[in-house]
Amino acid sequence: MKKVLENIIEKNREWSKRGEVASYIPELAKANPNALGICVTTLDGEEYFAGDYDSKFTIQSISKVVTLMLAILDNGTEYVFSKIGMEPTESAFNSIVNLENNKQKKPLNPMINAGAIATVSLISGETAEEKFNRILKFTRKITGNDTIDVNNNVYLCEKATGDRNRALAYFMKGNGIIQGDVEDILDVYFKACSMEVTCRDISRIGALLANAGVLLNNERVISREACRIIKTIMVTCGMYDASGKFAVHIGIPAKSGVGGGIMAAVPRRMGIGVLGPSLDHKGNSIAGIKVLESLSQEFDLSIF
Ligand code: GLU
Repeated sequence: MKKVLENIIEKNREWSKRGEVASYIPELAKANPNALGICVTTLDGEEYFAGDYDSKFTIQSISKVVTLMLAILDNGTEYVFSKIGMEPTESAFNSIVNLENNKQKKPLNPMINAGAIATVSLISGETAEEKFNRILKFTRKITGNDTIDVNNNVYLCEKATGDRNRALAYFMKGNGIIQGDVEDILDVYFKACSMEVTCRDISRIGALLANAGVLLNNERVISREACRIIKTIMVTCGMYDASGKFAVHIGIPAKSGVGGGIMAAVPRRMGIGVLGPSLDHKGNSIAGIKVLESLSQEFDLSIF
């Protein structure tokens, strides 16, 4: 397996040159565009690595899966999906247009920014600090990594430049979708996006989903049913407005982030974490997608 992963990384490295690192959050522009790494965690607990697998990056939108798990644990699926839809979108991840267009004024799904901000607003906690600490603790638990923390520079930069997210949040408050202090909710969202992880950490999150909500130490942290819903939404919405193409070519539930990470869950088989900060025009890791395509073909991983 290790040899196969190494070959896949080397074969696809050149794809990084065809994309660009995210720069709308200036701090993200400092990422190394040529980094490319992978970690596979199989459900019998084996880990396989290749390339720049131990480089740190901010989790960004992959945190949307983590906060969705926690919001479901706190409120149940029925309540969460009374506030947030389950429908894919052809608009960009930070689009505002659908919030006005759809009749119920609900964000379309929890994998776009509006939906994730609404998801974060549902997480229990008296204060923003308490809410975020619960997210951090939960992330450390499901990755088995107690050292995960916020990259403060990225967090401050997100907060300083996050006016589009602010617009989405105030719009949803105006429509009664979110309650409470908008700046506090955004603060939790920005911090959640700024948690620093490695390929190994996100492959562990993928393994949890692949294992229907049970950690590798056999502890159940989320129900099988919640996992089924989350994996389905990852298939239809996890790769932004490129989710359809990704489902056709790769066929694995996955979630990407603008930090260059992709977390993927192959049901009953493995979790996968990929890093490649150079992004395509939809905001997905350009070489990361190619790595997952090669892996999917090599091991026949498509769920379809
Ligand atoms: N923090 C990012 C934002 O809200 C997350 C975007 C992403 O990874 O898609 O702009």
